[in-house]
Amino acid sequence: MNDVAVRFVTRADRELRNDRVRAAVRHTTSLLAANRSTALDGLADPDAVRDSAHAIRRRAIDTLPQLLDRWAARATANGIIVHRARTAADAVRVVLDLADAQATAGHSPVRIAKGKSMASEEIDLNDALEAAGHEVVETDLGEFIIQLAREKPSHLIVPAIHKSRFDVAELFTTDAGRPIEPDVDAEAAYARARLREAFLRADIGITGVNFAIAETGSVCLVENEGNGRMCTSLPRVHVAIMGMERIVDTWAELDVMLALLARSATGQALSVYTNIISGPRRDDELDGPDEVHVIVLDNGREAIVGTEFDDALLCIRCGACLNVCPVYRNIGGHAYGTVYSGPIGAVLMPLLRPDDPASRELSEASTLCGACTEVCPVRIPLHDLLLRERHRDAPGDASRLRRVTFRLWSVAWAHPLSYRISIHVVRAILRLSSRVPKLARRAPGWAGAWTRDRVVPRVRR
Ligand code: SF4
Repeated sequence: MNDVAVRFVTRADRELRNDRVRAAVRHTTSLLAANRSTALDGLADPDAVRDSAHAIRRRAIDTLPQLLDRWAARATANGIIVHRARTAADAVRVVLDLADAQATAGHSPVRIAKGKSMASEEIDLNDALEAAGHEVVETDLGEFIIQLAREKPSHLIVPAIHKSRFDVAELFTTDAGRPIEPDVDAEAAYARARLREAFLRADIGITGVNFAIAETGSVCLVENEGNGRMCTSLPRVHVAIMGMERIVDTWAELDVMLALLARSATGQALSVYTNIISGPRRDDELDGPDEVHVIVLDNGREAIVGTEFDDALLCIRCGACLNVCPVYRNIGGHAYGTVYSGPIGAVLMPLLRPDDPASRELSEASTLCGACTEVCPVRIPLHDLLLRERHRDAPGDASRLRRVTFRLWSVAWAHPLSYRISIHVVRAILRLSSRVPKLARRAPGWAGAWTRDRVVPRVRR
């Protein structure tokens, strides 16, 4: 059966049974979450920086049309060719036309080196390019692994988070046609040689955009591997794909965003490479492309602006909310079945794909614990948005049992005495369950779903 047609709960159930993937996802997300915490502590006043980042992003969304026009005018004056794409198909068409132009100029098959770009994943660009006979190589190491596995990224910034070095060795061995040891150094050496060849042969480089800067008509691309720099400077043509909301007004604003992006994503004070592209190669410059194209992608974003959900557009794709989400940490990204996963995916996908039932059910993929909201560097109220989406989608015909249960719960927790009584009752049940090993491992009825993957913890006095 088509994976998209499978319901979220079924996919989640399948991933929950995959101990290897769960261990890999937990290990890496724990590491990233700990790094984030330490890195933010390094800022003199992290809360003030986050407030400021929220205000900057909020202003950008409130003035989006003017900001985009201002950026586009400057970018055009700098020699960048700006394309506006209302739909995914429009964006794909622009890239295919650019590739066709290269083919007509005698570069056939057209070779494309791609940097990491979630927007390109969103529009299924690789499939379209390959179907047209072009050769695409993902050059971000994680994306390269995923491309060889013919999979989608399972994390915003660590696309191959679910792969072990043994999985990678298998993929590289098949790609190389010779054994590659399951050793990180050997794997990195193979990828380095393979990707270097892709950079040198590329006719077109395709990348994402972290931020456009209206003040100078520039785009900023941050990365850690140097592949983004290669994709933007070696091929004759550079195409950058940018979600229309990824814009700031000034360099001072960019400074605030950069202070938070890498810290929240990986725990670095700054990414290893911060690339600023303000136009094609000038006559007196040795490096750089002859043409720079930026595709400004709408694909459902404009319709969100001005709605009660438009805080979702503040997102800077740092991935911090995924790393702390108890749902994501247990099931990984593929269970969501959508390009964006975790809390932000569960919020964003139903907004970008309102007619897609698979996206709309994702707001249920949350415990509403609020951990995502707590870590979001731009203070998106993620769990509030999830709740609002649930309300919007809540069928008026929720079962009577469900309605009565929630009403009783609401009444009980609205008064201190009944709240305390309910807590005592729950404690008693938990203590009893934790003392009876059979119950602790296999609770009866629907509670059994919880104990299938966990053991009831011992309650302290
Ligand atoms: S919602 Fe916030 S924490 Fe999650 S990816 Fe976006 S910016 Fe990062």
